[in-house]
Amino acid sequence: MWNIEQFRKDLETVVNIDSGSFDRDGVAEVGKFFEEKCKAMGLITKVNDETQTLEARTHEDGPIDILMLGHMDTVFPKGTVAERPYREEGNMAYGPGVADMKAGLLIMTTLTERLKKEYPDMRICLAFNGEEEIGSLRTRDWMIGLGKQSRHAFVFEPGRAGGAMVMKRKGNIDLILKFHGVASHAGIAPEKGFSAVTEMAHWIIELNKMQDLSVGTSVNVGLVKGGTASNVVPDYAECFVDLRFERMEEMEKVQARVAELEKNLFVPNVTVDVEYQGIFGPMNPSEATKALIEKTNAKAAELGQTIEWVATGGVSDANHIGALGVPTLCGCGPVGGNTHNQAEFLELDTIEQRLDLFYALMPELV
Ligand SMILES: [Zn+2]
Repeated sequence: MWNIEQFRKDLETVVNIDSGSFDRDGVAEVGKFFEEKCKAMGLITKVNDETQTLEARTHEDGPIDILMLGHMDTVFPKGTVAERPYREEGNMAYGPGVADMKAGLLIMTTLTERLKKEYPDMRICLAFNGEEEIGSLRTRDWMIGLGKQSRHAFVFEPGRAGGAMVMKRKGNIDLILKFHGVASHAGIAPEKGFSAVTEMAHWIIELNKMQDLSVGTSVNVGLVKGGTASNVVPDYAECFVDLRFERMEEMEKVQARVAELEKNLFVPNVTVDVEYQGIFGPMNPSEATKALIEKTNAKAAELGQTIEWVATGGVSDANHIGALGVPTLCGCGPVGGNTHNQAEFLELDTIEQRLDLFYALMPELV
């Protein structure tokens, strides 16, 4: 029923294109591959060269029954393919991004090709993001825009061991804070110095006060840098902060607190730059998501599959859509593991399982 040979050939082709998030040419090449594939099956495609996104629809703009989402970038720099290109060994495939998530992208196009033929009225949109691994800062609004038009969303990040999918993800804010003070000799002219490190220290304390594990909010100042020597009042300091949330209100509270701190610095003559590296709303299963999970379980059972559902503190583009309340499933791709490291693998026999499952499920949702 599916041409798995062709799938694996395509998988080899796309895995063997280096497409680290900062490798614009590589991401563009992957985009080109999928653009051509989508055009060949008669989809309407829209490419944004600036933000490196590809949107492919069965119908002109308007409401979307099924949104399928994936990212073309990987965490691996240029040259990785030369070191360890795509290879198969028994049921396993290896290579940079094989599971996270080039196989998932091919599931999207393979499914759509058949769904479009069998169900021409089904309004499908495929969204290919070029910068998920670095936080989707420039592409977030585009995805949210698509999410708002969508009735269901499926994100084809790799499935977990045993075929588990993801129903719940924490929200995340990733911040870099850069403090600029005034340097001076700590012995000769301490009164002329304004310490960036002292300002940062205040922020660290204030941010940590926001942690409330009872509601799922955690704060981690994970990396700090600053100053040059003990006898110099430091004119520069920076820290990297990771905040996780289960609740949207908590996320908004923290953002408001950061804005407040920005306006009320502790040390005179110090300034701060707040740089958001990533903002992902929490994805909590709505009633509609729970209903979708039930339908998915029923379909899986008909096919002799069992799907486990997991919650994770990690984020993906599913957060952007799930946070809108749109029923969203993540981890819909074939099963893989060891992502973001060189032992990344994909279980080849799960390709067909996922194709079967979503091909049976999606038409029942429209
Ligand atoms: Zn991924």
